[in-house]
Amino acid sequence: MKQFDFTRDYHSYANTHEVKVTHFDLALAISFEQKHLSGHVNLAIEHQTENLAKQLILDTRDLTIDRIENSQGQALSFQLDEVNAILGSRLVIDLIGDDIWVKIHYKTSPKAEGLQWLTPEQTSGKKLPYLFSQSQPINARSWIPLQDSPKARVTFNAKIMSPQGMRVVMSAENKAEVELNGAFMFRMPEAIPTHLLAIACGDLAFKAIGKRTGVYTEPSMLDACISEFEDTEKMVEIAESLMGPYRWGRYDMIVLPPSFPFGGMENPRLAFMTPTLIAGDKSLVSTVAHELAHSWTGNLVSNATWRDLWLNEGFTTYFTNRIVEAVYGREMAELEVVLEYGRLLEEFKTMPVEKQTVTANVQEEDPNNAFDRFTYDKASMFVHDLERRLGRTDFDKFLITYVEHFSFKAITTEDFIAYAKETLLVDHSDKINEAEFLEWIHGVGMPSWFVAPTSSSLDKVVSSQNQWLAANNENANSDASVLEASSWSVHHWQYFLTTLPESLTQAQLQDLDDNFNLTQSKNAEIAFAWFTVAIRNNYQAALPFVESYLKEIGRGKFVRPLYKSLNDAGYGALAKDIYQVARSGYHPSIVGMLDNIVEL
Ligand SMILES: [Zn+2]
Repeated sequence: MKQFDFTRDYHSYANTHEVKVTHFDLALAISFEQKHLSGHVNLAIEHQTENLAKQLILDTRDLTIDRIENSQGQALSFQLDEVNAILGSRLVIDLIGDDIWVKIHYKTSPKAEGLQWLTPEQTSGKKLPYLFSQSQPINARSWIPLQDSPKARVTFNAKIMSPQGMRVVMSAENKAEVELNGAFMFRMPEAIPTHLLAIACGDLAFKAIGKRTGVYTEPSMLDACISEFEDTEKMVEIAESLMGPYRWGRYDMIVLPPSFPFGGMENPRLAFMTPTLIAGDKSLVSTVAHELAHSWTGNLVSNATWRDLWLNEGFTTYFTNRIVEAVYGREMAELEVVLEYGRLLEEFKTMPVEKQTVTANVQEEDPNNAFDRFTYDKASMFVHDLERRLGRTDFDKFLITYVEHFSFKAITTEDFIAYAKETLLVDHSDKINEAEFLEWIHGVGMPSWFVAPTSSSLDKVVSSQNQWLAANNENANSDASVLEASSWSVHHWQYFLTTLPESLTQAQLQDLDDNFNLTQSKNAEIAFAWFTVAIRNNYQAALPFVESYLKEIGRGKFVRPLYKSLNDAGYGALAKDIYQVARSGYHPSIVGMLDNIVEL
């Protein structure tokens, strides 16, 4: 097997061991006509060795570099290398003397992978265009030339020019009361990893939820978002009681158009959210808890490389569950763990054995591949197991000191192991030994002692499901009204749908649909789970709704598996037809992956 240097970030060209960018001042103008950002960034650099570095090496993708100069206005020579499909283009700048400023004049490409440009027709208000970014994992380089590595933390100031009457927000201090006069100033005084750099511009209104929480979104969506997310202030208080003080000032959210490719993105001070969370009954708000939890695990303590993503996502998935338990009760928290485990089991079926580890060995791959159920759910099962073994009180003590110890730092898996060897594995050697600890981190599959999570709240779903399936076997006249589903939550439905037998008859599908109107469910999660069952069983009545769903929603978690299901069930031609129309509405950062599933 090839040996990798685990301290090295294989997804950045930056020479951070010689010279570090620690801060930048950004000045950009947004042009919706040209679909680009143009202006300059002034990078503050710190030499890391006594011999001054001769070159500054940066990451870029599809940027046009006009000129580069030092603080005296002297031109600096530079070279922009050929494009690498995964990493973009290396930018090598020749430095002169001990100057600490490098100013780059540049503009972005209309096809920048980190930016999505929407026409007014693609927004909910239909009046103004919309721009938003997605930098994680390595697309900040497609809108700012920098050392694009989670190890290279930066503070920044920004001045962004927009068309009159539009609002610009960033992952920085946002002021709700600003005038919409086309000029916006931002300050981010805490150093953040570059994948957390974020910007959005559109017809955005703001409403507060609590004293340090609120929502930005299009005016027509504002009230629905506020009532859906009304528990956010309470979540912040609970999270602080578990993990220590919230270090980022405000916790605001922006609810984006449906093409936003993720459930949420933990951009500090301004979490980005998909509108598919607005279900009307708070049933999907654990994503709010998840992005909030990242304020500690991910944004304070960060992964040093994409191999170490599990340190972000595993701890955050666990911590989300603790917030959900405190705000919505044990039943909902338990249900979510059972569903997470179900998703993980599903992924075990298709993931090669050597990749069934919490660490994501993507050193030679697209770092997007690190985002799987192992870095999230297997890693969170590990954290749950630590809690179970140590007991909650002792585990909470470990967690709070761990976060404090590594705040504003980026750590590798090996740093985490070394820390555990000095703390947890010494203090609690009677409860967990090193071999067990390392089995979780390096082992494939699940450890032999692992006990699958359960929830007694699912007993009623299981027994109804069995009853319905048994009745079906006995006579052809099925009747799903026996399901007694009136008290089921979204979670119960997800469990019911994802645990149905592989194959169902048309009569059974019709029966379920007639009784519960699943094809037209307004809940994005229920619709997704139902469509998966329907496509696999050739239930044609659902297909037109699958089509409109795929044209409306661009969240990768839903659209990727649905296109795959269509292909697998023999609807490849339909998938192609839908994709041909829908493709231009998806965020550029996921189009590459979708192109691999649906070849046009
Ligand atoms: Zn996350």
